[in-house]
Amino acid sequence: MELTEKELHEFKLRLLKLQSDLIKAAETGEQAEEVVELDQTRVGRLSRMDAMQAQAMSIETGRRRRLHLVEIEKALERIEAGDYGECLDCGEIIQPGRLDAKPTATLCIACAEALE
Ligand SMILES: [Zn+2]
Repeated sequence: MELTEKELHEFKLRLLKLQSDLIKAAETGEQAEEVVELDQTRVGRLSRMDAMQAQAMSIETGRRRRLHLVEIEKALERIEAGDYGECLDCGEIIQPGRLDAKPTATLCIACAEALE
């Protein structure tokens, strides 16, 4: 079953909300990374290692966040183009429950499972 205009609009709003949350989180996260830099001048060796671990984690979080933002942008582009909700692999309609759980999904369940 194809998505209705109303459903598409709801997905668009959800994606825009996710996008703005991620951008906000990115701004906060970048501040946290800077704090680690400053702390290194005055903390001991062990806590410096902790700080470096925390920094590595926040860099990893930032990397995932950027990937997620790209997925959201692509999903928004697909909504504009009118092919949102179609599997990129087989062209079938992606199950609504799957899109609901993951609005950036680009593959139907069968194709996603085939990839794993
Ligand atoms: Zn498929």
